[in-house]
Amino acid sequence: MREDFLHFLWRWRRFDARNLATSDGQALEILHPGEPNPHAGPDFFNARIRLDGTLWAGNVEIHLNASDWLAHRHDADPAYDNVVLHVVLDEDQRLRRPGGELLPCLTLRERIPPQLLEKYFRLEHERAWVPCEKTFGTVPEIVRLNWLDRLLVERLEQKTESVAKVVEATGHNWEEAFYRVLARNFGLKVNMEPFEALARSLPLRLLAKHKDQLFQLEALLFGQAGLLADKFEDEYPRALAKEYGFLQHKYGLQPLSAGQWKFFRLRPAGFPTLRLAQFAAVVYRSAHLFSQVLETGSTSETEQLFSAGISEYWRTHFRFDKTAVRQPKPPGREFVHLLLINTVAPFLFHYGRAKGQPELQDRALRLLESLPPEANTVVDGWAKRGQRAANASQTQALLHLKTHYCDEKRCLECAIGNAILR
Ligand code: SF4
Repeated sequence: MREDFLHFLWRWRRFDARNLATSDGQALEILHPGEPNPHAGPDFFNARIRLDGTLWAGNVEIHLNASDWLAHRHDADPAYDNVVLHVVLDEDQRLRRPGGELLPCLTLRERIPPQLLEKYFRLEHERAWVPCEKTFGTVPEIVRLNWLDRLLVERLEQKTESVAKVVEATGHNWEEAFYRVLARNFGLKVNMEPFEALARSLPLRLLAKHKDQLFQLEALLFGQAGLLADKFEDEYPRALAKEYGFLQHKYGLQPLSAGQWKFFRLRPAGFPTLRLAQFAAVVYRSAHLFSQVLETGSTSETEQLFSAGISEYWRTHFRFDKTAVRQPKPPGREFVHLLLINTVAPFLFHYGRAKGQPELQDRALRLLESLPPEANTVVDGWAKRGQRAANASQTQALLHLKTHYCDEKRCLECAIGNAILR
């Protein structure tokens, strides 16, 4: 058993509370279990209890064994002086305060309902993809949907933290920060790092000087990516290399290494060369993308900003010097939707909070609701277990639930887990 199960029992009073008494025989009444403390110090603050009719207000500490109090050196820590009750599974040792009086202790072992214990152990030891998958369907839909709504906000908050770091790193230049995060997400999982490094090495203000020339934008992006160093047969990459040589000298640029880009196991449509061409086309469409995002209203308008057409050469090539058997296309809708989910929504959410504009945070949520569900193995896994997603806000919440709750066995903090353990 883990200690957090005792926290759960205490917080929601899910134990047999008839004839409660401390181990030294004082009648115990719990008026309020206190507020959970996620930081250092006692586990619950501001609890209120009655011991033999006397009201006590203070903190509660919880352990599997009473002796853990000494093992954790709470006896020498003034932060624990105001503990009014020690709640334990087993009292393997009687504890006294520094003044010599007994520390009131409640033992829970005989008070845990057997059915609840059985359900807890089943969740704890289940090795299934989702540990609760056998009982998941018994949880009312309203509980699941409300929980997904909360998880979506939690996920956006988490993404917002990484957006905030980039905004901070750019000296609160929102356009530059948006450009960097967009570049990172253009790389998807496989080429995320080199795309991000590329954007850092090639600031947006520099690209903006060439925003009217798609050819120069491509020269800068491909050259800086280190992908123009070969001896090419085609005229187009040779011209790009020549242009980059000129711009490199002018701006004192140091290209990345070509070896950072991964082509292996990617379908041609996902090759970084084609993604770079698509990225160049998006910058060509607007060097002030974030301002444009703020100005657009509907999802389809926002989508349009990222669906720019690629240049002539890339309509017949996936890589330099290799003519494509099938014709490459501008970014597909599914890819654009991923950009909206992973870049636009977190930026709107963060910007709305930073600027005190809650309507932008609502817009981020509505944007996700208006997008179709994502297709990936996690979303498929949930669908096979009966939890189908209606839109991207639910797929985002389900991804968060699987990765940050189910995989980490945080069932006691999960509304679904709580409903199962009822
Ligand atoms: S975290 Fe929630 S949904 Fe996931 S296995 Fe536990 S109870 Fe089920």
